[in-house]
Amino acid sequence: MQRFILVTGGVLSSVGKGVLSASIGHLLENQGYSVSLMKLDPYLNVDPGTMNPFEHGEVYVTDDGAETDLDLGHYFRFTHTKLFKESSITSGQIYSAVIGKERKGEYLGKTVQVVPHVTDEIKARIMKLAGKTRSDFVIVEIGGTVGDLESGPFLEAIRQFKQERPQEVLCVHLTYLPYLGTSSEFKTKPTQHSVQLLLSVGIAADIIVCRSEQPIREETRMKISLFCNVRPEHVFSLHDVKTTIYEAPSILSEQKFDTALLRRFGLEAKEGLQNPLSAYIASKKKRSREVTIGLVGKYLTHKDAYKSVHEALDHSGFAVDAAVKLVDVESDLIQSDALAGKKLEGLDGILILGGFGERGWEGKIHAVRYAREHLIPLFGICYGLHAIATEFTRNVLGLKDANTTEVSPETSNPVISLLEEQKTVEEIGGTMRLGSQICNIKPGTRAFEAYQKTRVAERHRHRYEFNRRYCEMFEKNGMVFSGHHEKWNLVEIIELSTHPWLVGVQFHPELISKPLEPHPLYTAFLKAALACQIPEKIVLGKNTSR
Ligand code: GLN
Repeated sequence: MQRFILVTGGVLSSVGKGVLSASIGHLLENQGYSVSLMKLDPYLNVDPGTMNPFEHGEVYVTDDGAETDLDLGHYFRFTHTKLFKESSITSGQIYSAVIGKERKGEYLGKTVQVVPHVTDEIKARIMKLAGKTRSDFVIVEIGGTVGDLESGPFLEAIRQFKQERPQEVLCVHLTYLPYLGTSSEFKTKPTQHSVQLLLSVGIAADIIVCRSEQPIREETRMKISLFCNVRPEHVFSLHDVKTTIYEAPSILSEQKFDTALLRRFGLEAKEGLQNPLSAYIASKKKRSREVTIGLVGKYLTHKDAYKSVHEALDHSGFAVDAAVKLVDVESDLIQSDALAGKKLEGLDGILILGGFGERGWEGKIHAVRYAREHLIPLFGICYGLHAIATEFTRNVLGLKDANTTEVSPETSNPVISLLEEQKTVEEIGGTMRLGSQICNIKPGTRAFEAYQKTRVAERHRHRYEFNRRYCEMFEKNGMVFSGHHEKWNLVEIIELSTHPWLVGVQFHPELISKPLEPHPLYTAFLKAALACQIPEKIVLGKNTSR
């Protein structure tokens, strides 16, 4: 029998339903169960692939090439579950499927309606993932906040779903509990209202989790229990974590969340289990050294736009026992080589982030030049590889007008360009090289040194490719092609043999990094950055200019 946990949210958006869902998955796996997770997003985009990161944060890509919400990144990092296209559902997908069926006459002349046609489609999607994964538990996060107009069909669908399977479905409702410092009290009224709102659409919360700045007090728990019709032992506090979000599962299990959850399903929980993340959490509080990494990109003001990169750097920081201090460098403010020197001076390593379009592009190239010439470890991700290749063509090969055709379609030296077969494509959504593909690693290279194997799978999300016409000139000048697509003749990794560590990758290694399985390239990058720290800096423990 499969069991389903529906995670809804009230009061405010962005209080952490994704981390809660991932934490539930983590705790259930720790109890010996298999889990799968999915997110239902109410917006009308078919997927977040066409959304600006300022709108929606990072686009997380799965192995099978789905462009999804960043919460799927939490699911991946907190659990061992595999994620699929079916793990991310949007209203856009649901409506286009329903309209597609209507056009084909599949509804046999019926009036097509939100209830039952849209809601049936939603329920069918949940069952599709359940059937595919056959996991013991399916955790379904419902995006948005209860009461939002656009969440309506999803909530109606899960109401029906819960009613159809009373023994197999539980609703965990996450709310926000404000704390009023002036009167030193938690305010429960918004929580009461959101539980009532949920009840008004026919869904009774079985478990309430309260996000708050501080642990909630017993009297608050009792009050929520009384007013929200949930037993006190089913009200939990998910207060702010001091160090890392990976503390969230242990905060819940200390309150016996896993025991309560399993008991609601008639299952017994194992007590006294080890927390697999405890070493990671402990290390976060105390790491023996520090490494300063500059992040060069253009969506830096949105804290979630590079979520997986932040996570991957911290996972590798754990592996090398170093706290990773991040310095945001807006690429469109690096308007010259001289400015690159001012903004990047004193960093131990520089990471050129992925991205799209013209704004900030030249700044990335100035940053690459600074790192290359000053022998600072440099890691270029996707558009970062494009910047490395363009800078090299301009300043080492001397072809000054070199560019990517993404920015300059007319350049006479298109070192990064579209493949012939891509040139006629007009629709943007889903036309990229997406998902996990096999890359062969050349032995004797920095890439091999990091991976210690010759065959790896990495996830992609891009349109433009390195133009192989330039391979020979690159090689003659010290650039090594250390990774190639296994089947197609495509460049996946480049590295400069005359530099301490300058590596560009066409894929996004951060998407597969986990706290206890850090990505080897991120770890190698940090090791190189630590090795290049000038001795006085380590001794003095402060920034000394290079
Ligand atoms: N804009 C580049 C491309 O489409 C790189 C994309 C990225 O960095 N994810 O090829």
